[in-house]
Amino acid sequence: MDVRSQVSMVFHLDKCIGCHTCSIACKNIWTDRKGAEYMWWNNVETKPGTGYPTKWEDQNIYQGGWERNGDSVSLKGAGKLRGLKNIFHNPYMPVLDDYYEPWTYKYQDLFTAPEGNDQPTARPVSLVTGETMDVKAGPNWDDDLGGSPDYARQDVNMQKLTPAEQEVMFQLERMTLHYLPRICNHCLNPACVASCPSGALYKRGEDGVVLINQERCRAWRMCVTACPYKKSYYNWHTGKSEKCVLCYPRLESGQAPACFHSCVGRIRYLGVMLYDADKIEAVASVPEDQIVQAQMDIYLDPFDPKVIEEAKKNGIADSTIEAAQKSPVYKFVKLWKLALPLHPEFRTLPNLFYVPALLPSVGTVNNGIYNSNTNGLWGGIDTTRLPMKYLASLFSAGNTETVAEVLKRLMTVRWHRRNVTVGDVDEKTVNAALEDTKMDTATADAIFRLTTLATFDERFVIPPAHREESIEMLENTGDVKGNTGFGFKERPARGL
Ligand code: SF4
Ligand code: SF4
Repeated sequence: MDVRSQVSMVFHLDKCIGCHTCSIACKNIWTDRKGAEYMWWNNVETKPGTGYPTKWEDQNIYQGGWERNGDSVSLKGAGKLRGLKNIFHNPYMPVLDDYYEPWTYKYQDLFTAPEGNDQPTARPVSLVTGETMDVKAGPNWDDDLGGSPDYARQDVNMQKLTPAEQEVMFQLERMTLHYLPRICNHCLNPACVASCPSGALYKRGEDGVVLINQERCRAWRMCVTACPYKKSYYNWHTGKSEKCVLCYPRLESGQAPACFHSCVGRIRYLGVMLYDADKIEAVASVPEDQIVQAQMDIYLDPFDPKVIEEAKKNGIADSTIEAAQKSPVYKFVKLWKLALPLHPEFRTLPNLFYVPALLPSVGTVNNGIYNSNTNGLWGGIDTTRLPMKYLASLFSAGNTETVAEVLKRLMTVRWHRRNVTVGDVDEKTVNAALEDTKMDTATADAIFRLTTLATFDERFVIPPAHREESIEMLENTGDVKGNTGFGFKERPARGL
């Protein structure tokens, strides 16, 4: 067992109001620079929708992530040999139109326009060419168009639905949407790190944050292709690639990343997870229908004496172990089984987990008793407005049962709490749901508390910085583990 620590995240989608405050906080701190205007290290997209960059989830277009080759994995479209073949023209690279052309407005015209009969206007001007332009796309364009079916129908996940199922979904009274905020997942098996010919990307030993060394980056842009989430970006002004740094200077001083700190919906949670690095390659290589469970199993119980012993042997500080024990991410992901990784089939083992949105389910009130199980205990979930196949395509590599189990647990908490606070839910329903999901009322109350009333310190359990553990834990060493392109460095004894 090779115990490592990872700063991980949970986003609770039922709470996201799509206000984009997170995106603006990040933009103001990190990407308000020449060459970075089009970058949104934190972006919020609308689902169903095509996202940013357009259709980023479609690896037939972008060839990102890993593919399984027997007991191992190899990069799908990047890597040294494939990369060399495409050195002069990489057909899998998103172009500016796939993101959008960033713009500002000629605000000065509002003040300098001559007096006339018309209201003066500030025309949009391209931040790339400086020319006036017609705005045709933006980082949250689907949202600007109010979840328009024109975009929703182009959602890559729709391919998992039959045409008949899609028609039902787009009936006016059934149409719905939810927001999907995204940042870099600081993956356990980061395709970006493995793809870089210059070895510029690395994963920090003390917290698992994935960074790009600007000194070593040689603008190959393999990381842009390799990242299936398209969270590595090329700065056309500096000629270097850039990505989310999880606000590591803030983390090191005990503060939450800016997008977390500013989140209006309080949907974000951050904490340490301990995991077994010996299992990364094996987990990344399991068949698709086992990948979610395999990833869940790689995270370790921070209260287990054996895990603690191995963690200490590996130089993990007591304060980090303590942070892992208090981690809200550990609770949501491992203990309560409420949060799932986005597109686990990309095999990068992402460390950002989502509590899926419990979409509008309609109940009835008969004789003053609220009843949401109008069609059997879980009828509301079986007929949820966003088909289970769609949610499974997002969060469980197509396994509908996995998503359904999460939604049932969320629904159980909702019924239990409504029974406690309003008292108008059929008692039999609550008890049947608790029994079916094997949840006790104390757990349901704990989930409710962390979801709704949690304080700042409960949502963000940030371990004290341990720069003495600083080592580039995982960097592109090319051939250390078979042909996968990644490997672990030996960890030095603590204190070195
Ligand atoms: S999401 Fe994963 S693969 Fe993409 S840039 Fe972040 S660490 Fe790399
Ligand atoms: S700030 Fe929070 S609530 Fe607002 S869009 Fe971002 S994640 Fe959603």
